[in-house]
Amino acid sequence: MSEAIQQATPQPAAGSAAELASLDGLHNQELLARYNQSLMGVFGTPQRVLVRGNGCTVWDADGKEYLDLLGGIAVNALGHADPFITSIISSQLSTLGHISNFFTSPTQIALAEKLLELAQAPAGSKVFFANSGTEANEAAFKLARRNSTATRKRIIALDGAFHGRTMGALALTAKQAYREPFEPLPGGVEHIPFGDVDALRTAVDGTVAAVVLEPIQGEVGVRPLPAGYLKAAREITREAGALLILDEVQTGVGRTGNWFAYQGSVAGGEDILPDAITLAKGLGGGFPIGAMVTFGEQVSTLLTAGQHGTTFGGNPVATAAALATLHSIESRQLLQHANDVGAQLRAALAGIDGVTEVRGEGLLIGFDLAEEIAAPAVRAALEAGFIINNPGPRTLRLAPPLILTGTQAEAFIQALPAILAAAAETAAAANSADPNTDAQKDTP
Ligand SMILES: *Cc1c(COP(=O)(O)O)cnc(C)c1O
Repeated sequence: MSEAIQQATPQPAAGSAAELASLDGLHNQELLARYNQSLMGVFGTPQRVLVRGNGCTVWDADGKEYLDLLGGIAVNALGHADPFITSIISSQLSTLGHISNFFTSPTQIALAEKLLELAQAPAGSKVFFANSGTEANEAAFKLARRNSTATRKRIIALDGAFHGRTMGALALTAKQAYREPFEPLPGGVEHIPFGDVDALRTAVDGTVAAVVLEPIQGEVGVRPLPAGYLKAAREITREAGALLILDEVQTGVGRTGNWFAYQGSVAGGEDILPDAITLAKGLGGGFPIGAMVTFGEQVSTLLTAGQHGTTFGGNPVATAAALATLHSIESRQLLQHANDVGAQLRAALAGIDGVTEVRGEGLLIGFDLAEEIAAPAVRAALEAGFIINNPGPRTLRLAPPLILTGTQAEAFIQALPAILAAAAETAAAANSADPNTDAQKDTP
C-alpha cells in the first residue's frame, strides 16, 4: 500500500513546489475537501483526485489503480503519458509555443492539410482551429448565420442533441436543464424528433440555414442515427440550400473505428460529404484543440476576413499535438484496432445478465441496464478499479483510449457482473431507506 502511494506521488514541477507542497501526502478525501473550498461547484465533487497515468491506467491520490475506460470523455485516444505525444509537445514548446493568428506555423498548415486529406474534402475545403468542442460549434453556428438571408434563418437540431455549453452551442443543445437558466439564447434554433426522416423532411425547406447533427449522439447514451438518416439529411439539405453540419466532436478522429463517423456505418456505406464538421475531444490526444472543417469552396468562403477569430486557436503546441495524434493513429493502425476491440466489447456486453441493449461503433459504446442502477454502477466500477460513466439513469458509456487491449477489455467484462450486482444492492438499500436518494440520479 505505502509502496503504491509512493509510486503514485507526482513529481512537483520545479518552481511550483511550494504551492504543491501544501498538498503533499494528502489523500483523496482531504484533497477533495480543498477542491470544494476553491473550485466552483459546477461539476459537483469529483470522484477521485488523479495523480498519474500510463497507457490505459491511472492512479489516484490514495495509490489506487484504475483501468480508464472513459479516456477523459473520449479524449485520450493514445492513453495517458504517451511517449511520442509527450516528446512532440515538449519539443514544440521548447521551439515555439504561442504566436497568435497574426502569424502561422508549419504545424498549423500541416495539420490543416492532414485533416482535409483524412476528411476526403474536395478542392477549396478549409479548416478553422479553435480550442474546444463548444468553440468549434460556435464557429459552425456563425457559419450557419452566414448562410442566412432575410427569409432563411432557421437552424434545425435534434432532440437529445448535445453541442456544448457556450451560448450558441447551448442554443443547439436540447436538454432543458442546461438551457433554461441561461435564456435568452441565440434565436432561430428548433429541435425536431430524433432519427425521424419525415420530421426532417417536413422541417427543412428554403427557410432553413443549417441542419446540425451528431452522427452518434454521445451525451444521451451513444445513440446512432438510424440507417438511411444521414443520406436522407444530405439530400434534403442540399435540395433546400441548407448546410449539413455534423458535430463530430465526440465521434471524430478514430473514435468510431473510422476517421470520422460520417465515413462509417452510420452513413450506411454511402459516400456522404457534409458541408462542415466540428472536431475537438480526441483530436489533440489530450491536448486541448478544436476544429471546424468546411467542405468545398462555397461553404469555405462564407466566413470572411475579420468575421471570426481566436487568440489561442491553432497554436503551434496544440497543432503539433494533434498532428502527432493523427500520425500515431495511422502508424499504429488504431482504426482497425478500435473496430476489433470495440466489436469484442460489444459482443461480450450483449451476453451479460442485466444488459438490455448495446450500441455504438468502434470504441464509443453505450449500453442499457434492465434497472436504473447506472449511477451506483459507476461507483461500484470505481471501487473495482474501472472508470466508466453514466449518461443516463440506466445507461453506461465506454470511450476508452484507442489503444485499449483485448485483455484489458476482457478484464472489465469479467468484473462487470459483480459491479452490476453491487450496484443493484446499493440501489435496493437506498430505495428502501428513501425512494428519492441519489441512487436514482445520473451524473451531476
Ligand atoms: C463534448 C462535446 C461537445 C463540447 O465539447 P467541449 O470541448 O466540452 O466544449 C460538443 N459536441 C459534442 C458532440 C460533444 O460530445
